[in-house]
Amino acid sequence: MSQLLDIQQLKVDFTTKDGYLTAIRDVSFQIKAGETVCIVGESGSGKTVASKSIMRLIDYENGKIADGDIRLNDVDLTQLSQRELRAIRGKKMAMIFQEPMAAFDPVFTIGNQIIETILAHKQSSTEKARKRAIYLLQRVGISDAELRLKQYPNELSGGMLQRAMIAMALALGPDLLIADEPTTALDVTIQSQILQLLQELKTEFGMSILLITHDMGIAAEVADRIIVMYAGGIVEQATTLQLFESPHHPYTHGLLQSVTTIDSDRSKKLFSIEGSIPGLSDLPSGCRFHPRCPYATERCLNEAPPLLDVNNRKSACWYSEELVKNDSWKKPTLQ
Ligand code: SF4
Repeated sequence: MSQLLDIQQLKVDFTTKDGYLTAIRDVSFQIKAGETVCIVGESGSGKTVASKSIMRLIDYENGKIADGDIRLNDVDLTQLSQRELRAIRGKKMAMIFQEPMAAFDPVFTIGNQIIETILAHKQSSTEKARKRAIYLLQRVGISDAELRLKQYPNELSGGMLQRAMIAMALALGPDLLIADEPTTALDVTIQSQILQLLQELKTEFGMSILLITHDMGIAAEVADRIIVMYAGGIVEQATTLQLFESPHHPYTHGLLQSVTTIDSDRSKKLFSIEGSIPGLSDLPSGCRFHPRCPYATERCLNEAPPLLDVNNRKSACWYSEELVKNDSWKKPTLQ
């Protein structure tokens, strides 16, 4: 598979009344053509900032890319003007959100908005664009597509609007679809239908998917590779199989311990990682996970571990190798 997206050393700052706050730093990862990559982590880990940076949407939120490259098909998106970006958004990359109303303008019909998206980028007649809109709505599972084209966003149910948003994102056949928690607001049955649909569309449209989620179960279901983020940085990167079979970072290990499965012993208390993710203005010294890590040592308090290659994956922990080799996960500390 060839490289589609290559992000190197991305750093994003936000302006606040007290000056700049760094939301993510040293974020580097790649996505190959046809791959599904998930970014997982708790709220505040930086996963949404990373995904919005690719679309250059943080420019609208007091944010700025302070350092690093984002290359899509070898074009550095950080160097493009807003006019050049408009030509790429939709055509080369598109994004869907947790809240589909954010993607639609409430005063225009669904049809109007999908057709306009097509006409804005493609030499096409209105009739051809209308036919394509109908095809796309049908393809995402909306059977009465002609009727839905004439409706306004508020006339569609949450699940149907989510499907319509996917149809609009696919209108120009993007190479990369970024999906930010696309199923969080939906009930479990619809959630699984939408995930299944995304997988089918990925193959049919020959695109790559970057899925942002806090749900390890969803990542397990759809991802080829998983990137775990914590407090603005990547702490582990591995294939889905590697990550679930043998997590190397204590945070990933904790996330997996807190997943319930059908076989979970319901008489036992559900595991959760103690404490909460630090605020950006109050980041701990050394390893940012140290206040919550049961294996932290003096070194962790003072030295930040880089993301290093360990056993064919990447992990940012001084003790990954020892923890895995000695299967020390249940011991409270390495000290
Ligand atoms: Fe825990 Fe230390 Fe590893 Fe950080 S470097 S995850 S504090 S053991």
